[in-house]
Amino acid sequence: MLPVLNNPVAQAKEPLSDWVPAWMKRKIGIVERAGYRIVGPHKHSAVKICHYTKQDIRGKDVCYKCKFYGISSSRCLQLTPVEFFCSMNCKFCWRNLGYIMPPENFPWDSPDEILDDAIRAQRELLMGFWGSDADKEKMAKAMEPKHVAISLSGEPCLYPYLPEFIDNIIKKRDMTAYLVTNGAHPEMVKKLIGHQPTNLYISVYGPDAETYQKTCMPNVPNPFPKVMESLSLMKHFACRTVVRFTMTKDFNFKEPEAYSKIISMAQPQCVEVKGYMNVGGARARLTAGNMPTHDEIIKFAEILEKNTDYRIMNQKANSRVVLLQRPDMNLTPEEVMSDDAFTG
Ligand code: SF4
Ligand code: SF4
Repeated sequence: MLPVLNNPVAQAKEPLSDWVPAWMKRKIGIVERAGYRIVGPHKHSAVKICHYTKQDIRGKDVCYKCKFYGISSSRCLQLTPVEFFCSMNCKFCWRNLGYIMPPENFPWDSPDEILDDAIRAQRELLMGFWGSDADKEKMAKAMEPKHVAISLSGEPCLYPYLPEFIDNIIKKRDMTAYLVTNGAHPEMVKKLIGHQPTNLYISVYGPDAETYQKTCMPNVPNPFPKVMESLSLMKHFACRTVVRFTMTKDFNFKEPEAYSKIISMAQPQCVEVKGYMNVGGARARLTAGNMPTHDEIIKFAEILEKNTDYRIMNQKANSRVVLLQRPDMNLTPEEVMSDDAFTG
């Protein structure tokens, strides 16, 4: 097995180079103050220690993906290769800093440059835990991450070397890779059929083009047909596939029949129906009144269940989320969920 870290020689932290534009310097300052670490020579990637990584190191809790997919929360590297770039600016996005599309001829880092630096940064960020109430055995293992969650910020399909990035994680470093995309880039999703992650998530934000325009403030023209194209490609993936509906009242929380048709077309292994939570940057755009109640989310999921062959499997009230699964998945809630499911 190859070592997780390709180049073990530590790099000194350099001052921001002259080429870094003012807008990027400003955003780097904001995210670093929020606990992110910018990685890679061209400063477009970032890592952040996840809440559940810290909790697992302390032996207190794990995220639901731990129960569901067998990943270890304490050995998870939460990472994005596109900290500042997204094809959307969703009203409900808690991370949103005003995403833009990548400028033409942007100097992208290679997968090795990002991953080596990201693993180094994760180790540095974890160092402070040695003196805390951490489980020392878990701490030692956390220093060798085994799982990469490509979901921290932005739209990963905008990183042109995403297929090589995923192969590097899985084949070269013997880690697992969990990819979350907004589906607006089917050309990249198509490429990924030959470079599959361990888990592929496509987030769906509306049942029609008009709703996407209103809810997602897209940076690209008419993303809805593109999202549908990406969903139609899901059946070509042998890896785990999940469709997530993020529901926001007065925007996309409507027409369950139309969402049912999307499920039937995409045929993912699982569907998550999740209510908007009024946290982070989204509070500047929305209010608690935009949050569906958990009962409303359940009722919505029950209509999806009635209209498809998917079955409700579990729910978590304080996260306002319900999980449905395709009948052939055949998992029991006990196998899949902890009490703290869906909070990650
Ligand atoms: S697509 Fe994802 S990262 Fe981009 S603005 Fe929407 S929720 Fe945020
Ligand atoms: S919630 Fe996501 S980022 Fe956090 S430990 Fe679980 S998989 Fe990793």
